[in-house]
Amino acid sequence: MAVTRQKLAVVPADADLSKEDFRIRQLRARDMLRGDLEGEDLEKYVEERVLTTTLDKAVAWARSNALFPATFGLACCAIEMMSIVAARVDVARFGFEAFRASPRQADLLILSGRISIKMAPVVRRIYDQMLEPKWAIAMGACSSSQGLFNNYAIVPADKFMPVDVHVPGCPPRPEALMHGILKLRKMIQDDPDIPWREGHKAHGTEEVIPADEQEAAVNVLLPGPTSGA
Ligand code: SF4
Repeated sequence: MAVTRQKLAVVPADADLSKEDFRIRQLRARDMLRGDLEGEDLEKYVEERVLTTTLDKAVAWARSNALFPATFGLACCAIEMMSIVAARVDVARFGFEAFRASPRQADLLILSGRISIKMAPVVRRIYDQMLEPKWAIAMGACSSSQGLFNNYAIVPADKFMPVDVHVPGCPPRPEALMHGILKLRKMIQDDPDIPWREGHKAHGTEEVIPADEQEAAVNVLLPGPTSGA
């Protein structure tokens, strides 16, 4: 690599800054600090560098980039959740690595696992102890939809507390959880993605199966002797 010395010179006002020439920007900054920029040049310099926004947007931006998740795991999904702080996914890149041991210091509850009916009031209490504003992610099939269990003891999270994002999978990979957290970040910034159905103009089975055939579609194991029953 060759290092060349250049003589400092006042940068002409019509110099092309679009080329991202670092040297020109450096010299322009020097001129500004010296007080050599005046009138139109100074106005142009400030216009290129000042960003205006609203207080709400700035607060939402700060909140969405500094989520404090609660240190709280429920079942097998929690192992995947723990791994998001490791080097492979590295949630610290986004500023979410400070897992808090107290719900009073956390603003994100990741429901990482199945929730039994006995455990639901405990989870709800933890959620209630968190200060506003707060958010919740249902991680995995169990906390989103009762999961792979056809079991009277498991309850989906939506039944007893508000959930902002559902992450599908059993268990979801750490990357999937990360994707869910980034979706939540966009929601906090008031810029949510288009819902999947709306974006793909998709329809659920309940909309395309004729009404008289729906019962057979819902009951996978029909009443009576079946090989799987
Ligand atoms: S979704 Fe799968 S991995 Fe997660 S808690 Fe349920 S059974 Fe375990």
